[in-house]
Amino acid sequence: MHATLPLLIDTDFPALRRRKVDTVQVNVGYVCNQSCLHCHVNAGPTRTESMSRETADHVLAYLRASGAGTLDITGGAPELNAQFRHLVTQARALGATVMDRCNLTVLFEPGQESLAGFLAANAVQIVASLPCYTAELVDKQRGQGVYDKSIEAIRRLNALGYGREGSGLALDLVYNPQGPSLPPSQAKLEADYKRILGEKFGIAFNRLYTLANMPIQRFGSTLVTKGQFNDYMALLRGAHRDENLDGVMCRSLVSVDWLGYLYDCDFNQMLGLPLRVAGRARTHVTDMLARDLENNAIVVRDHCYGCTAGQGSSCGGALA
Ligand code: SF4
Ligand code: SF4
Repeated sequence: MHATLPLLIDTDFPALRRRKVDTVQVNVGYVCNQSCLHCHVNAGPTRTESMSRETADHVLAYLRASGAGTLDITGGAPELNAQFRHLVTQARALGATVMDRCNLTVLFEPGQESLAGFLAANAVQIVASLPCYTAELVDKQRGQGVYDKSIEAIRRLNALGYGREGSGLALDLVYNPQGPSLPPSQAKLEADYKRILGEKFGIAFNRLYTLANMPIQRFGSTLVTKGQFNDYMALLRGAHRDENLDGVMCRSLVSVDWLGYLYDCDFNQMLGLPLRVAGRARTHVTDMLARDLENNAIVVRDHCYGCTAGQGSSCGGALA
């Protein structure tokens, strides 16, 4: 795989500073039952990195100390981590909202038969990737058979109340473009998804988030291989909008890796660009129990244009 960080270091992206942390996003490791083409974490079944109970407890202590209202759990397939249910129940006991970045197919993995019921019982918000409403494109990007399994998983979640009006159980879907282009209008695509998935399968969801592909990891490397990296960067840079700077997720989210180290966002985590506090090379959650990050400078590089291009892109979808 081609390294993309050397291509992103020289940047004129505007300087950014943090606000108060409202979301702790924790990446519990890179084990996944899928190996998607666009995965920005290079997750897969052969990865072994997994958060320990000790680190999970450190993350929970940090969640409490930071006063953040949301724990956003990602991976890999976070549900495959042995600490997943501990993190969920303990964060809920602290009164936090919990989000699970779920790939849907994990519901059918051996040993995960009770997962959907567990998520519903703990009112976990599910954010799930479905990069198209057609089988062909989903299977091309995420693997053979993933589309059918994803539809079946949404059916199962709908039956528990997920995605249904008034249930309080949120099921949001995530779209990203197949190739080196910007996502289309989020509002229009959400309406198309709802109509087509509703008519074809009778399934429902709450919101659709459209995300731009980041020029890093597997996707970035593919761009390099195809000689498209510079063109894609020019597209992102040319579509940059200053008004998106206020809403980029790193202003209020902090990303924690499976060992408990902090980053300004998941993309920086994948690039190995740690959050910088007081000149330290890297900072652990346990270093931050008695101090906050407000006004701390954010580590930006050229990939940050992926967050501010066009309608903007964050883990909560379009910014504009
Ligand atoms: S399901 Fe998600 S974490 Fe797993 S390989 Fe695909 S994109 Fe990566
Ligand atoms: S890539 Fe990360 S650090 Fe850069 S703007 Fe986006 S969220 Fe912020």
